Amino acid sequence: MTERETLQANVETVRARMADAARAAGRKPEEVLLCAASKTRSAETVRLAASLSIDLFGENRVQELVEKQAANAYAPKPAHFIGHLQTNKVKQVVGCDLIQSVDSAHLLDKVAAEAARRGLVQPILLEVNIGGEASKSGTDPAELWALLEAAAAQPSVRVRGLMTIPPVEEKPGEARRWFAAMRRLFDEAADRWRGDDRAKMEVLSMGMSADFEQAIAEGATLVRVGTAIFGPRVYKV
Ligand SMILES: *Cc1c(COP(=O)(O)O)cnc(C)c1O
Repeated sequence: MTERETLQANVETVRARMADAARAAGRKPEEVLLCAASKTRSAETVRLAASLSIDLFGENRVQELVEKQAANAYAPKPAHFIGHLQTNKVKQVVGCDLIQSVDSAHLLDKVAAEAARRGLVQPILLEVNIGGEASKSGTDPAELWALLEAAAAQPSVRVRGLMTIPPVEEKPGEARRWFAAMRRLFDEAADRWRGDDRAKMEVLSMGMSADFEQAIAEGATLVRVGTAIFGPRVYKV
C-alpha cells in the first residue's frame, strides 16, 4: 500500500469507530470532529492527510506549526495549536484557527495582547488539568471560573470551549471518569455563560487514540487522534 492508502484506511477505521461510539451514546456522528494530531509527521505526510476525511489538524510544537504552515501542508483544513504554549512563542501561534491550550491568566494576557496588536480576535479553548497532576499543564478546575472571567474580559480573544489531557490510566476504561468530570465542568460553564458570545461552550476537546470512544461517550465534540491515523511516532534524537 502507498502511504496515502495506509492513511486513508486508518482514517476510515477511526471514523467508523467514532461513529459507532457516537451512536452507542445516542449522539450523531457529525457532532464529533476528528483532529489529526500531527506532531513529528512531515509536511508531506500532513499534505496527504489533508486530502482525507479529517476535519482539522492539531499541532503540538510551535516550530512544527510554523514550518508546516509555511509549506502550506494543512490546507484546506484548519490547524489548531494543542501543545503547551510558552509565552515567548505566543507571537508565532496567534493567528492560527484555534489555540486549544490556554491554561493561565499570564498566557491569556500574552495571547490577548498579541491578537490586539494584530487587530484580530483569537479563538481559544481553556485547558483544564482535570486530574490535578503536578506534572501536567492545564488550569486547576477550581481556577477555571476566574480564568473564564478573565478571558471574557479580553475583547481580542473568544473562548470556544474546553480541552483536557486526562491522567494516563493503567487499565482501559479508567479514563472515562475524567471525561465525565470534564463534561460536568463543560455543562456548568455552558450554564454560567449561556447567551454570552464571549465564552461560548461549543467545543469539548478530549480523547486520543487509546480512549476516544470513551471521550465520545461522555460528550467530546472533538477528538485528537495521532497514532491511530499515522502509526507509531518515531522521535529523532
Ligand atoms: C500527541 C497528542 C495527541 C494524540 O495522541 P495519540 O495517542 O497519538 O492519539 C492528542 N492530544 C495531544 C495534546 C497530543 O499531544
